[in-house]
Amino acid sequence: MPRQIIPAGSDPTAIGEVSAPPFARLPEPALLFSRRAERWTALAAGHDLGPYLRFLAALADVQHRIQEGLAEPEMPDAAARERARIFGMPPLDRGNLAPDTAAETLDRLVVAASEIKKTVAAADALDRLKQATPAKRGGMVRNVLANAIPMEALAEHIYVAAALQVHFARLAASLDARALVPVSDGACPACGSPPTSSIIVGWQGAHGARFCACSLCGTLWNYVRIKCTLCGSTKGIGYQEIEGGPGTVKAETCDSCGCYVKILHQHKDPGLDPVADDVATLGLDILVREGGHSRGSFNPFLIGY
Ligand SMILES: [Zn+2]
Ligand SMILES: [Zn+2]
Repeated sequence: MPRQIIPAGSDPTAIGEVSAPPFARLPEPALLFSRRAERWTALAAGHDLGPYLRFLAALADVQHRIQEGLAEPEMPDAAARERARIFGMPPLDRGNLAPDTAAETLDRLVVAASEIKKTVAAADALDRLKQATPAKRGGMVRNVLANAIPMEALAEHIYVAAALQVHFARLAASLDARALVPVSDGACPACGSPPTSSIIVGWQGAHGARFCACSLCGTLWNYVRIKCTLCGSTKGIGYQEIEGGPGTVKAETCDSCGCYVKILHQHKDPGLDPVADDVATLGLDILVREGGHSRGSFNPFLIGY
């Protein structure tokens, strides 16, 4: 596969456009998944991964639909959130949740996902999830939140991860963006999760600013450009893209930690979605991995590829 390596210094939009971007932008769950479903549908046309992208479009539509009438998620109390802020911790603690966290959301998703057109393997996985005891489902929730999804039960966990994205997006949407503080490189200031990718936005007042997109709650957090979103290094940063492509999705590689995270130029194409376009550019992952860098970001819908 052809490749093009672009030295970091040649990124012409990197300097001079940014005014005062907000530190964080919280997700809008009422729009997040419906827009993603549309994006996946658009990307599926003529794509090598077409059937899988159509499945993910239908799953995102389910993520959208199950929110109607769903009880508000229980927020950590104000004192706990303030304590987290003082200690530079995310207010939503993904590692310390009740065993039945998101149980109703997952119930609804399992029922609604029955209607999706899917492969036999995906249907079998959904059946196993339907029949799983509450304790077993709780174990799967813990696996996803610990970033420890077992490969032999990957298909079941994709549904669980989708339900948790809905749950955490709704939690994050109730936070105060102005109260969020940077926690550490590669960690969402709302929930502590790793990014799926980063985007350069075209928002008024923040044109050209870069934001990391949380893989769990969907919060976007501001992060300077030409700096590794995982380890914070500013040395040995490079950019790779598929030659002859639209030039809107690149891999930002870091020689310090040996990883890469994709960077999406949403200011050039407002339709780009940090999760959907990450999956649809799997060819870029293959290219960059051949060059020796490892995937450092997290996307539940790309595990196993
Ligand atoms: Zn998050
Ligand atoms: Zn790095």
